[in-house]
Amino acid sequence: MPHPPPSENNVKRIEKMVASYNAKSGTSKHPDAKVTESVVLGLARHLDTLGRPLCPCRYYPDKTEEIKHRTWICPCDDMNVYKYCHCLLFTTPEGLPVTEYLPEDHEGRAIYGLVKDPTPGQGRVLQAKAAEREAERKARPS
Ligand code: SF4
Repeated sequence: MPHPPPSENNVKRIEKMVASYNAKSGTSKHPDAKVTESVVLGLARHLDTLGRPLCPCRYYPDKTEEIKHRTWICPCDDMNVYKYCHCLLFTTPEGLPVTEYLPEDHEGRAIYGLVKDPTPGQGRVLQAKAAEREAERKARPS
C-alpha cells in the first residue's frame, strides 16, 4: 500500500534541516533531486508518525523502541562520527557517500570503496565517539 503524503509543515522542517546540515558538514545534495526528495519525504513521514526524524532507509523491528536511541535519528551517528550517509541525503558533489572514515569492515566500504571527503575540515562533530559507535555497531548490527 502506498504511504500517505507527509505533512507539508514537516517536509519544510526537514528541508531546512538538510540545508543547514549540508552547510555545517560541508556535504552536498545528491545531483539527482529525486534521491533527496524521497529521503526527505521518508524523514518527514517519521516526524509525523513518531515525532522524530528516524532514518527512513533502514528496517526496524520496533520503531517506537528504536527512537529511544539517538543512533538513527537524522543526522545519525554514522553521519556525525564517520560523515557517512547510506541514504545518499548528504553526499559529495558527485552524489557519493564519504566512506573515508568508516571502519574497513563497514558495509559502506564494501559497496562504494574508498570515497574521500572533499571537505575534511567540516562535519564529524562526534568523531571522538568512534569507539563507542563501533561497540554499538557490533552489539546492534545494522
Ligand atoms: S543515513 Fe543518517 S544522515 Fe543519512 S538520511 Fe539516514 S539518518 Fe540521515
